[in-house]
Amino acid sequence: MINRRIFLITCFFGLIAACNRKGAIPVATATPAAVKSQIRLYSAEKKGYIMSDKVFKSETEWRKLLTPEQYNVAREQGTEQAFTGETWNNHEHGIYQCVCCGNDLYRSEEKYESGTGWPSFWQPIAPENVTTREDNSFFSRRTEVTCSRCAAHLGHVFNDGPKPTGLRYCMNSAAMKFVKTP
Ligand SMILES: [Zn+2]
Repeated sequence: MINRRIFLITCFFGLIAACNRKGAIPVATATPAAVKSQIRLYSAEKKGYIMSDKVFKSETEWRKLLTPEQYNVAREQGTEQAFTGETWNNHEHGIYQCVCCGNDLYRSEEKYESGTGWPSFWQPIAPENVTTREDNSFFSRRTEVTCSRCAAHLGHVFNDGPKPTGLRYCMNSAAMKFVKTP
């Protein structure tokens, strides 16, 4: 009788141990592969392409990093008022980076006077660094431009830009930080 009880108790704890092991294995091996997602981006500093991890943060984390206006534009698809941003009239030589993750977006060489009051460019630093998608909000069909690394909303792209591309990347100053280069 005692032997039988010991046998049952041993089986019971053995089963629990086996279940725990079973549960632990997939979690430990699956997490790193599922979270990491590398993309190819152009780096102005490296003067070439690099592999970079995509950036994912919670709303709370973004709010800690950004000012309320930066958060509204970059994370909530807001639009700053024309002629109010820091860089619509900036003529200095440098790189425009994503305010959220530092991804290089535009060069001063491709900035031009669009007369709109928003910083405008005829092409991004590299096609890979920005992502476009259809935006049908506000009863209009526009093409939204986002950061390829962290999905920040940057602005919209239109077909009324100058040569050679004919494109106008209409950006928000609040979604970018300007880094002066020699
Ligand atoms: Zn970004």
